[in-house]
Amino acid sequence: MRAEIIAVGTELLTGQIVNTNAQFLSEKFAELGIDVFFQTAVGDNEKRLLSVIDIASRRSNLVVLCGGLGPTEDDLTKQTLAKYLGRDLVFDGQAVQRLDAFFAERPQHTRTPNNERQAQLIAGSSPLQNNNGLAVGGVLEQNGVTYVVLPGPPSELKPMVLEQLVPLLGQGKQRLYSRVLRFFGIGESQLVTVLADFIEEQTDPTVAPYAKIGEVTLRLSTKAPSQKDADLKLDRLEKKILAVKTLDGLRLSDLHYGYGDDNSLAQTVFELLKKNKKTVTAAESLTAGLFQSSLAEFSGASQVFSGGFITYSIEEKAKMLKIPLADLRANGVVSSFTAERMAAQARLLTGADFGIGLTGVAGPEELEKQPAGTVFIGLSSKDRLYSIKLSLGGRSRSDVRYIAALSAFNLIRQALLKG
Ligand code: ATP
Repeated sequence: MRAEIIAVGTELLTGQIVNTNAQFLSEKFAELGIDVFFQTAVGDNEKRLLSVIDIASRRSNLVVLCGGLGPTEDDLTKQTLAKYLGRDLVFDGQAVQRLDAFFAERPQHTRTPNNERQAQLIAGSSPLQNNNGLAVGGVLEQNGVTYVVLPGPPSELKPMVLEQLVPLLGQGKQRLYSRVLRFFGIGESQLVTVLADFIEEQTDPTVAPYAKIGEVTLRLSTKAPSQKDADLKLDRLEKKILAVKTLDGLRLSDLHYGYGDDNSLAQTVFELLKKNKKTVTAAESLTAGLFQSSLAEFSGASQVFSGGFITYSIEEKAKMLKIPLADLRANGVVSSFTAERMAAQARLLTGADFGIGLTGVAGPEELEKQPAGTVFIGLSSKDRLYSIKLSLGGRSRSDVRYIAALSAFNLIRQALLKG
């Protein structure tokens, strides 16, 4: 099925409102396995709307119009579509009853002939009742094209689509099921390179990479009659993907930390800490609390985090963390020594199971002759103390700080997985 969405409203063209209806509809159609090939926005103008409907009718077999069902003169979607299809407008009994009830409950409102138009349908349509407003929607087929008419306000359109249109269009159809795999520690270009065979030969399921700041996701999608059938296909593909080796000889399974669009590395680590009944603390310089505040996003954070340190200056690193100032000066603030001491002292002073030390150059200027983007992260645990160095040159200050905090979470993840 080739679908096309036509959003009607001059406000869309003048930039007063964003076409979120089209986004919502596209998302729902994708889930139903319906391909949306075009989205159009057109003003409240009969001639231009007629021409857009004509173009859509020639190239699509599902044409969805939204907006312009209201009572005012510029609301002309139904009238224009009726004219194009050579049909009349007729009253829908249930919509008229709603209109009657609405005005009976509000004697202060004057009922105008324009209100009546909201209860009208193009002759031959099946109604889509509006449980949140007065304008009735409709579905109609003519010459192999299905036309759908929906109200503009999202508060009316969304429930109408979810409760009535989706079940109608979804009858007996295959749906699109997706699974998002999340990776940390590999760039998009390397991931695409090592997965070239999967990406190039994809038909069903498909594999789509997406780069985010500091991490990459892979969306696997398949059309199937049920979640169970989809899971079988997606499980098989996921297993093959995770067995692939990176250019550094690691397996993708080592870099894969979670699933879903919204799950974050911080959340994964938080859940792992909780599951293992471990606690964490941090002493942060360049990230100035970003790591700790990320943990505090999750309800129940106090189970894994009781407090930590923000030690921005060298003096506070010495004073708060009880590290000899001379040692910090001798080794440099941006160094593996300092990152490790910060991690070890933070852990010692709070009694946490894991201590993180974050120090580096957020930029844009260099520091201690270290280029912007140089970051050292220390990890201290009962039996290990070590650090890693990141070179994040060429990135913005906020990206350097964000990736540094993510990398700290990843160190804990690796430590927890090793046991
Ligand atoms: P009404 O009965 O309110 O007149 P309608 O069906 O005629 O509804 P419009 O007049 O086109 O719809 O739009 C009403 C409101 O709905 C707009 O002011 C806007 O807030 C919202 N809206 C309309 N179209 C869209 C869209 N494509 N995306 C997001 N919001 C929209």
